[in-house]
Amino acid sequence: MPATILIVEDETDIATLLRYNLEAEDFRVYTAETGDEAQHAIAEKLPDLILLDWMLPEVSGIELCRRFRAREETSRVPIIMLTARGEEEERVRGLSTGADDYVVKPFSVPELIARIHALLRRSSPNLVTNALKVGDLEIDRTTHRVRRGVRDIHLGPTEYRLLEYLMRHPGRVYSREQLLDGVWGNDVYVDERTVDVHIGRLRRAINRGKEADPIRTVRGAGYAFDERYDQRA
Ligand code: CA
Repeated sequence: MPATILIVEDETDIATLLRYNLEAEDFRVYTAETGDEAQHAIAEKLPDLILLDWMLPEVSGIELCRRFRAREETSRVPIIMLTARGEEEERVRGLSTGADDYVVKPFSVPELIARIHALLRRSSPNLVTNALKVGDLEIDRTTHRVRRGVRDIHLGPTEYRLLEYLMRHPGRVYSREQLLDGVWGNDVYVDERTVDVHIGRLRRAINRGKEADPIRTVRGAGYAFDERYDQRA
């Protein structure tokens, strides 16, 4: 599954250049020109990484970065700041607001892509392999085989996609809307309660007896795959 990158950049030529090069690397790319647009885009689809321009109209990149870090759903999404300012002081300021990396314009595209890959390997190792394993739960994305410990688990196609989606980013909280979008697809009309029904089926399939439930219900927010479920009593 390709990683999704959100580009927040008001200069169209730079955004176009980035989109072209990132799509050539097999990333899925979407763009926003302002902070407002970025927040709407993220509410619809959570990216795996954000490229964030420092100089934006209205809300600055720095302020946006701070907001992304403050919100639970975006607190762990890697952010690379793009900026024309190379001063050491500004660089430190950028990193101290929570950006993971920093490139100075004009930047080299291959170098930027190398940094993106490096960050994704750290933040989403599950995006780059075919096996997903968290605790005693394991998915083989080639064969769609699911196991918990030594037990084979049989899931319907929707439950499988739901589990795979949640396990790609353990700990990350997804709203029902984001799950509908990511698991069912944009163009399908399904009620948000459908998500609850399938989460219920998924739980019944993967949890037996007193086993810890890896799926966490986050009140008022949605669901997450609990990365530490196997450490709970
Ligand atoms: Ca700009």
